[in-house]
Amino acid sequence: MAVSENLLDAIRKAVGPGGWIDDEVGMEPYLVEPRGLWRGTCAMIARPDSTEAVAAVVRLCAEAGVAIVPQGGNTGLVGGGVPDGGIVLSTARLNRIRDVDAANHTMAVEAGCILAEVQDAALEAGALFPLSLGAEGSCQIGGNFATNAGGVAVLRYGNARDLVLGLEVVLPDGRIWNGLRGLRKDNTGYDLKQLFIGSEGTLGIITAIVLKLFPPPRVSETALAAMADVERVLTLFTRVRDECGDALSAFEMISRIALEFTVRHIPDVADPLDSAHAYYALIELTSPRSGDNLRESLESVLAAALEDGTIEDAVIAKSQSQCESLWRIREFIPEAQKSEGGSVKHDISVPVSKVPEFIHRASQGAVAMLPGTRVVSFGHVGDGNIHFNLSQPVDADADAFLARWDDFNQIVFDITFEMGGSFSAEHGIGQLKRKHLVHYKSEVEVDLMRRLKMALDPDDILNPGKLV
Ligand SMILES: Cc1cc2nc3c(=O)[nH]c(=O)nc-3n(C[C@H](O)[C@H](O)[C@H](O)COP(=O)(O)OP(=O)(O)OC[C@H]3O[C@@H](n4cnc5c(N)ncnc54)[C@H](O)[C@@H]3O)c2cc1C
Repeated sequence: MAVSENLLDAIRKAVGPGGWIDDEVGMEPYLVEPRGLWRGTCAMIARPDSTEAVAAVVRLCAEAGVAIVPQGGNTGLVGGGVPDGGIVLSTARLNRIRDVDAANHTMAVEAGCILAEVQDAALEAGALFPLSLGAEGSCQIGGNFATNAGGVAVLRYGNARDLVLGLEVVLPDGRIWNGLRGLRKDNTGYDLKQLFIGSEGTLGIITAIVLKLFPPPRVSETALAAMADVERVLTLFTRVRDECGDALSAFEMISRIALEFTVRHIPDVADPLDSAHAYYALIELTSPRSGDNLRESLESVLAAALEDGTIEDAVIAKSQSQCESLWRIREFIPEAQKSEGGSVKHDISVPVSKVPEFIHRASQGAVAMLPGTRVVSFGHVGDGNIHFNLSQPVDADADAFLARWDDFNQIVFDITFEMGGSFSAEHGIGQLKRKHLVHYKSEVEVDLMRRLKMALDPDDILNPGKLV
């Protein structure tokens, strides 16, 4: 639907000076997805700086029947924030920390706060906000909740969904729902906030959030252990979890080829062990109790694992810089993979107990379809969430490899489905995975989702063409 000049003028008035962008150059960063997979169009970027101004923009667009695409840091990986007409509503100027309630262990923040700034604000208040992911320097907290972001601390603290007590949301008709409660117990009917979390901007615009805070870690230990096969990665995970309990805050799997790619392509990354091993686990223990001897715990569990052949070797970081070097291997795998030509990515989850079976079956399926395909698997194995990426055969044509994207997806997602897993563990649906949603979710689930969308946004104003 065309956007009239009258509507654009009314939006300009509602958001005030500095509250919109409508020139080609200024709009560019909001129209492109960082990896260049999609390019959108829209009439204006509205940048309101208050919840009331967001509501005013939504009311105007709803009356005119014009679509709004909410956008945070634009780091999403499924094209959810890319517009197809209408306007983009950026939350970048809603960036205030509203309140820190130390005794309640909560902090109320506006949607446009950058995740790293939220973490810093929590630390300044003597607390931890544990959500942590590769894009934390640019993604916004509203975007994190709109996508139910995961990241590297899910094992101990849960997804975004688990880190929230209250929300403020502008509904598709422009009403404001103030659900900014800081309550840990509130059994008064449907848990409405959870409807909006993970809804990818299709049900409402999140404008503020009450976050849960935790005691900050005062001691931590990091190790990289090496194993001969993926079954042993699972054995080690179970053992570390059983012996170290809550102290286990991250358990990330890295396959040999993923480590080789980072060593080959990323500056200042070296193989920390003397010989090659099939799989590695990056393990982090943390505790808020400064007296806890985590090193002893880690040494003891790794020594026993070495003794009985679960692991082949291990290194425990002796300094902060060694710890950062170990994490650098894990964090730079996606970047390193770019230098190896075309890659087809899958962000799946299966029950933790089935991770080895999944990796065997999906690897066999992918390589059988295209011999020479290189399986680069890594990820949050403690959450059953594997980034099952496929790199093109050496010296193959990247475009020919990428043309098989859907074929690879089908093999990997069918196996995931058969194993009771999810075809999108972290990154959501956006526009990339809509067809998979309809294919792999039951009719009942898809019907319920569509009914919810129709109930809240019957005119399809918010983020049309995404998710459902
Ligand atoms: C290097 C890198 C690493 C990443 N690692 C992870 C990871 O470990 N785990 C993970 O889960 N994700 C990861 N991501 C994906 C991405 O960072 C997350 O999805 C993040 O939560 C998106 O936040 P954003 O502010 O950039 O949202 P955007 O990309 O701007 O938007 C994402 C979706 O949310 C909607 N939206 C945004 N803000 C709002 C709002 N206030 N109200 C309603 N809807 C809104 C948009 O319409 C869109 O559909 C990674 C991305 C990159 C580039």
